[in-house]
Amino acid sequence: MQIAKNTVVQFHYTLSDATGVLESSHDHQPVLYLHGQPGLVEGLVDAMEGHSAEDTFTVHLPMDKAYGAREQDALQKVQVKHLHGAKKWKPGMVAIIQTEEGQRQVTVVKVGLSQATVDSNHPLAGKDLTFEVEILSVRQASEDELAHGHAHGDGGHQH
Ligand code: ZN
Repeated sequence: MQIAKNTVVQFHYTLSDATGVLESSHDHQPVLYLHGQPGLVEGLVDAMEGHSAEDTFTVHLPMDKAYGAREQDALQKVQVKHLHGAKKWKPGMVAIIQTEEGQRQVTVVKVGLSQATVDSNHPLAGKDLTFEVEILSVRQASEDELAHGHAHGDGGHQH
């Protein structure tokens, strides 16, 4: 089966930039996602289309196809209690905050008692990225998954 709208895809990836490997799903578990739903980087989703299980491929994404350029002036003050992902915060840590457009990753710059300064650039903004992808499986999405708009199971959404 080929990756197309409404298929559920499980894959491993290794992500690198010009300086080397940034992260790899081989360190934890493969990614499971419903093709055609937002969530993954668009350039990666486009490259997935038409591949099938056991395919491996490499996709190069210039920053404008990945997480965009870094913006100057992206510092924001937020309440420490609105930072998600850890209990104690130190500069350089990546936190998740809730915005009107959904969840967003930010980098902690300074932490006070109740307020923190964060850089709202995505941690991968300003980087040209390379994904090495290994497709593990492709299947038709279930009706539940289509109704929920996400994949269920290992590495996907758990209820
Ligand atoms: Zn669900």
